[in-house]
Amino acid sequence: MSSALRFQVVGEAFKKKPLEIPNSVERPSAFFGKYVFNRQKMKEYLPAEVYERMCDVMDNGTKLDLNTADAVAAGMKKWAMELGVTHCTHWFQPLTEGTAEKHDGFVEHDGKGGMIEEFAGKQLVQQEPDASSFPSGGIRSTFEARGYSAWDPASPVFVIEDTLMIPTVFISYTGEALDYKAPLKKALKAVDKAATAVARYFSDDVKKVTSNLGWEQEYFLVDEDLYAARPDLLMTGRTLMGHDSAKNQQMDDHYFGAIPRRVAAFMKDLEIQALELGIPCKTRHNEVAPNQFELAPIFEETNLAVDHNMLLISLMRNVARKHGFRCLLHEKPFAGINGSGKHCNWSLSTDTGILLHAPGKTPLENLRFLTFIVETLMAVYRHNGLLKGSIISATNAHRLGANEAPPAIISSFVGKQLTNLLTALEESEDDNLLNLSGKQAVSLDIPQIPEILLDNTDRNRTSPFAFTGNRFEFRAVGSSANCAAAMIVLNAAMAEALMDFKTRVDVLIEGGMDKMKAILKVLRDDIKTCKPIRFEGNGYSEEWKQEAARRGLDIEDSAPKMFEQYLAPASIEMFHKTGILSEAELYARTEIKLETYTKKIQIEARIFGDLCLNHIIPVATRYQSQLIDNVHKMKEIFSEEEAVEVSRNNLKLIRQISEHSSFITENVQRLIDARKVANRISDELEKAVAYHDTVAPLLESIRYHVDKLELIVDDELWPLPKYREMLFIR
Ligand code: ADP
Ligand code: MG
Repeated sequence: MSSALRFQVVGEAFKKKPLEIPNSVERPSAFFGKYVFNRQKMKEYLPAEVYERMCDVMDNGTKLDLNTADAVAAGMKKWAMELGVTHCTHWFQPLTEGTAEKHDGFVEHDGKGGMIEEFAGKQLVQQEPDASSFPSGGIRSTFEARGYSAWDPASPVFVIEDTLMIPTVFISYTGEALDYKAPLKKALKAVDKAATAVARYFSDDVKKVTSNLGWEQEYFLVDEDLYAARPDLLMTGRTLMGHDSAKNQQMDDHYFGAIPRRVAAFMKDLEIQALELGIPCKTRHNEVAPNQFELAPIFEETNLAVDHNMLLISLMRNVARKHGFRCLLHEKPFAGINGSGKHCNWSLSTDTGILLHAPGKTPLENLRFLTFIVETLMAVYRHNGLLKGSIISATNAHRLGANEAPPAIISSFVGKQLTNLLTALEESEDDNLLNLSGKQAVSLDIPQIPEILLDNTDRNRTSPFAFTGNRFEFRAVGSSANCAAAMIVLNAAMAEALMDFKTRVDVLIEGGMDKMKAILKVLRDDIKTCKPIRFEGNGYSEEWKQEAARRGLDIEDSAPKMFEQYLAPASIEMFHKTGILSEAELYARTEIKLETYTKKIQIEARIFGDLCLNHIIPVATRYQSQLIDNVHKMKEIFSEEEAVEVSRNNLKLIRQISEHSSFITENVQRLIDARKVANRISDELEKAVAYHDTVAPLLESIRYHVDKLELIVDDELWPLPKYREMLFIR
């Protein structure tokens, strides 16, 4: 873009008025789920016995027969056509992070030369998208392109515009998972089974344990026209160059500050549409960085929560455009200010309550609470490296380990009270359960602490996995990620820890030990074993890195090497034992992660090189010529000596521009060469490592010089919208 255009775009963005959002006269409860075929709609549109069957399918995971599917499809079709729907699609979550869909019309020949609207059970239940271009990590070679998508009745069908959206799993012809949902559902089943078995030690009537997820989605908004003027944002989702704005987040005036009108209109619109789609939005606020915001719903069952997050992401993108914005979900769209994450609040619950909720009223409840806490810590301890592997990506790598986001070491913060409790339990010789009773147990150090205070565990913001009263908050997940990746690992690891716990307790019980004593004994062992994962200090500090290494935690900080954790023997064994992913699937997934990593850096490097050579260098050279011109002209009116004197500053600038420009041109060439070398490597891990080690660092070192030029070159010539112009929506 030319600088003239830049000024025009910036000026117009500044003048834009917020859209009018009709103040909804209805209360959210009136339109919540308006476009969702939920239980209420099922009851209305399905025959009673079909509705009962569906409830059984949804609640107990029984198989859906084709007759029922036909009947459900008929009711769905009626409901959807009343909303003007003409198409349906299987909606799935391929390993590319986004969602995918293929639309089919409701039409069929009627056999008399006309058309009828048709939507049968088999269309609802299963489709075969020719999806050969979705990544499969070699599981499905292109000539065997068939993959199945199959309806997930646990996640309700919904309508977007003219299309009936059917949430599905996506698997290969030979049965391997090609998406996130299939293994997630298996992980949730595994944790249900393992946790139910353990919960029964404490209460016979537990039938089911549910995994819950409450995500908090952070994002940036940027004016659409400014976005369009930044090829780097457009192609990679982040700015690859751009000097800090003089003012950014240092005043802390954005966080929880007043929401700009244009943004408020966007948020309101987004919330209404999300609520209509059954996403229980609750919280919205400004985040720390300028133009950064957050949206959080009320937590839900994990499978549904994941679908709702994916749905919200596509909704955010659409609604943002309507308001003249682009929604940035990249973890680090702007250097020098905070990046975006997606805290995943996780817990397990039975129909009688949350298993991680403290404190219980009886010693038994407290022991149950402790069991689930300690086994969560065991799970995180054993698989801390894999958990990190589950959240890492080329984009989240910019956030992790930077001093504003989770460190690149997974540890868990549990707070002072719980720490005291665990220590007391570990050290006590006395198996008298009364020591664990209600108030006494949680107020070991502060007598008579009100129960409610436990919900406000003093929060350590530097911890990637913190206990916050009735849940753990996994903070390392990136804003653009599908939370399923993290939820698969966390729930799988928890299932394994609980299975293992139960095996050991049962051995003691069979040997004649009292059940509660057996549980206490195993817990004591586990508290000792997983102690290294507990860390209450400053996760950003240099000492922690060294301490974590001494404790044997995973301290790998190279993104591609973190992916390898999926192939560690302990990971393969865990996924196998819990029946979630086979070794072949794990290899395929790791391959895809590595390929994606490489491609992302590759694209960044290309666009960055282009910007340097076609945008920055020509402009810097032009400005330099102007300065040289000026120096020459000075000589015309001044004596030689005087001319040098008055041109001192310009001469300095001319030299600086030369230095920065030659660094940039020389190193862009090195960047191209490094890419060529890396591209010749056939092993995906080695290739990704080469991109990480040799390509990515050049982007950073060259950027430094581009940003310096931005400070020197005449503002009127600079071609790219600057940080200060992009970051402050009025
Ligand atoms: P904060 O920003 O203070 O961490 P928020 O209120 O923004 O908290 O978000 C907290 C999220 O945690 C919400 O989605 C909330 O529904 C969810 N949450 C609360 N309790 C639980 C729980 N027991 N299990 C899972 N998620 C929970
Ligand atoms: Mg949070």
